[in-house]
Amino acid sequence: MAGLRWRLSTAASRHVRERTAVYHTPRPARYTARRGLRLFRRRPAHAVAEDITYIRARSVAEAVSQLSGGGALLMAGGTDLPESLRLEGARTSKVVDISGIAELRGFTPTPDGGLRIGALTSLTDLAASPVVRERYVALARAAESVNPPVARERGTLGGNVCQRPRCWYLRSGATCIRHGGDLCLAADGENKYHGIIGSDACHMVHPSDIAPALVALEGRARSMGPAGLRVTPFGEFFLPPGRSLVRENILGPADVLTDVLLPPVPPGWRSTYRRVSEAGTDYALASVAATMLIVEGRIVQLTIVLGAAAPMPWRAVEAETVLLGHIPDLVAIAQAADAAMADAMPLAENRYKVGLFRALLIDSLAEVAGLRPQA
Ligand SMILES: Cc1cc2nc3c(=O)[nH]c(=O)nc-3n(C[C@H](O)[C@H](O)[C@H](O)COP(=O)(O)OP(=O)(O)OC[C@H]3O[C@@H](n4cnc5c(N)ncnc54)[C@H](O)[C@@H]3O)c2cc1C
Ligand code: SF4
Repeated sequence: MAGLRWRLSTAASRHVRERTAVYHTPRPARYTARRGLRLFRRRPAHAVAEDITYIRARSVAEAVSQLSGGGALLMAGGTDLPESLRLEGARTSKVVDISGIAELRGFTPTPDGGLRIGALTSLTDLAASPVVRERYVALARAAESVNPPVARERGTLGGNVCQRPRCWYLRSGATCIRHGGDLCLAADGENKYHGIIGSDACHMVHPSDIAPALVALEGRARSMGPAGLRVTPFGEFFLPPGRSLVRENILGPADVLTDVLLPPVPPGWRSTYRRVSEAGTDYALASVAATMLIVEGRIVQLTIVLGAAAPMPWRAVEAETVLLGHIPDLVAIAQAADAAMADAMPLAENRYKVGLFRALLIDSLAEVAGLRPQA
């Protein structure tokens, strides 16, 4: 274990900042003119502890042990570290860097014919892996879509899945419901990039491109923590605001996501991931991950998951029900797209997302049904 103390203004913190791709957190143009001003003033931008101990863990067991004492933040590629530090505020007194743990990188076939991918595998390696490209197209495409390239090179699989919310109110230090307040500032504020479905208390969207693909592929998360090893289907990994307003997934503060496990792929099974993003911005405005297995002309298995729609990857169960057991055609697919959007409750500035999702759903489902060529 190598431990050293550093101050945020020292060379060590510059090193962490330099490892961090430069990206800005857009600030809502109108928040100062609204009640947001009062809420921002009540609590200044997130405070960060002055002295932070940096630990470079050499094993998962050591990382768990270092994280267990409380006040510690795990770091992988470090691309989101400054933002994670600000969100955790002065509570963080220690950063535990797991980037040197070699066993957390790479691809290994599993005995059941599936694939294990280490959480430290970079998104570039994920997108380039021949086995992922051939068998888990949705995941390769999701990794490829992360933009710009520096975010793929430095960002890791685990870090992408566990990245913190990007809601600009939260990241600007506002006292919203996720940060000790009692309301969601986005509900009638600047909400162009916020959610349209499953949003109850908090209207953020889960920012990860990888997460919807892992849910659609029915992957599982393997994690290690003080209570030992846990394997959790990605369908149960992400938490809606109704279950937690401080965590976005089931991992506790001392848990390390170690691997992603993907199931074996039956012959003829197809998957895809498509997203739309605004020119000049990095994250998806809307995305769809879908898988489909057709046997004797009928759909016998499918998953449809929406990204950038809800606070967690959103499984469009109603749309799946429309198609399951049916012969795939464009009419049925359009009905499924309508069903997926039936419960959408867009906010004032994000109604455009409903049409975007509908179009993406039709393209994605037509592709996995073999009615359209791959994108
Ligand atoms: C300029 C820029 C553009 C981006 N564009 C996109 C985009 O288009 N699409 C997209 O999906 N993402 C995008 N991202 C996000 C990027 O993919 C993530 O920042 C990155 O994948 C996080 O990986 P990391 O290893 O750097 O994580 P870190 O920054 O090290 O950690 C991020 C968070 O995850 C936690 N964490 C990391 N690894 C683990 C683990 N193994 N177990 C438990 N917790 C863990 C950390 O504690 C921290 O809270 C972008 C980022 C940047 C900087
Ligand atoms: S969307 Fe969530 S994080 Fe953003 S202001 Fe609303 S409650 Fe806060």
